[in-house]
Amino acid sequence: MYRLAPPAPQSPSHCHYCPARNVYNPPRKSSARIASFTVRAAIRDSEIGRMGSLVNQDLAGRRVTVMGLGRFGGGVGVARWLARQGARVTVSDSAPASELAESVRAVADTGAVLHLGGHDEADFTGCELLVVNPAVPFDSPFVTLARQAGAELTTEVNLFLARCRATVVGVTGSAGKSTTTTMLGRLLARSGRTHVGGNVGVSLLGRLDHIGPGDMVVLELSSFQLHYLPLLGLSPHLAVVTNLKAVHLERHGSFEAYVADKANIFRFQGGDDVLVLNRDDPPTAALAGQAAGAVEFFGLDDEPFELRIPGRHNQANAQAAWRAASHLGVDRQTAAEVLAEFPGLPHRLETVAKRGGVRYVNDSKCTSPGEALVALESFESTPLVVIVGGKDVGADFGQLCSALADRARVVVTTGQSGPRIAAGLGRLGRPEVIETADFAAAVAAARRAARAGEIVLLSPACPSYDQFHNYRRRGEAFSRLVSE
Ligand code: ADP
Repeated sequence: MYRLAPPAPQSPSHCHYCPARNVYNPPRKSSARIASFTVRAAIRDSEIGRMGSLVNQDLAGRRVTVMGLGRFGGGVGVARWLARQGARVTVSDSAPASELAESVRAVADTGAVLHLGGHDEADFTGCELLVVNPAVPFDSPFVTLARQAGAELTTEVNLFLARCRATVVGVTGSAGKSTTTTMLGRLLARSGRTHVGGNVGVSLLGRLDHIGPGDMVVLELSSFQLHYLPLLGLSPHLAVVTNLKAVHLERHGSFEAYVADKANIFRFQGGDDVLVLNRDDPPTAALAGQAAGAVEFFGLDDEPFELRIPGRHNQANAQAAWRAASHLGVDRQTAAEVLAEFPGLPHRLETVAKRGGVRYVNDSKCTSPGEALVALESFESTPLVVIVGGKDVGADFGQLCSALADRARVVVTTGQSGPRIAAGLGRLGRPEVIETADFAAAVAAARRAARAGEIVLLSPACPSYDQFHNYRRRGEAFSRLVSE
């Protein structure tokens, strides 16, 4: 199992203690089997597992800069935890305090120095440890500055993994991470004490004292978080990859670089470790050739589970979670019970109201055309009124428009990208399109258009930032507006 006794022994080569095997494992060198970073690489192979040792040392009195407070909890979690360790914490964020109000309040009592609305060079040249938020560009000049000045670079996830003594299961993929992670957390909770965190929005650093060696941790890991895993040189013992699509290429530079970062989730596994892969997704299945340990496949041909949540994609997520859970003491009967009860996550094909024979489904987490296609496929036999549109990030709506023409009875467009989607549908000549000025008008139009027996589906296919703070606020607005 992936285990590391805290604090790890001090040694110049930053060795890792593995109680399960009772050996010290020197970090493995970069494996030739896994493609090296190609472009915009923040981490060179020579630095793997060799970035000094602050990551698992006592941080009391250390000068630590947290770059990126953020709005989703990661920056807050690490700043609070560092302050509790007695570190001298500075938080630097390019966003002004007004945009970070909630997070600022959450660290107000920590004594951390906040430098917001821009970065101050001195915070980077003067720190010993730089904790970078995964949202920060890999090639940030401030990160370079800190490293040139001798600071060690790490992340909230790396700090956690370096200290966590539990069995760690990592879940990544382009889509389905949160759903699979949450399903897996529920399955494992039937066989032992389980903690769920990471990219799902929960920092587990603050819970380290409550996570014992016999516990299980399920961590959702994004490609941005995984990018920094080589600095630690460790992978979870059990790793799950749901699927791989060409997303976030503006950050990673190429699909190959993106896949290489995703592959860090098993890059440092040993022979006893397990990698769970999607056999239906060729780029994911191809990772099997790079695995050091056992490889287990899941797919839609596997015996299906009865699920409350719709869609083949959720069946795939259930199969992924089951395949991982079966290695950690969960039997099929228990899995079937737990998965049958799983209500799904908010804002992902979530039924939020039933009124006048119309079902209202909130899929606000759907921020790309690909996700909207998945949603449309999930309701094959029900007539749909679909609300689409949001922040225009230049996505190609061609395939989505064709699917909407086939699947929707009415499409309501809204937001910055609304006119572009309406134009695409106009060229196809169907279905009926209602263009609206803002989100409330879109929901009102969809309510008026829907007939009994139909579904009003909010699958925006775009980010929410043109009209909302984030996708959660958009989903909440939808739920409120359909219940009024
Ligand atoms: P992530 O955490 O990777 O963003 P989520 O579980 O939050 O994934 O699901 C977000 C959206 O991604 C869903 O609303 C759905 O549109 C799509 N999705 C979820 N699981 C899958 C899957 N296995 N395959 C393809 N698309 C999926």
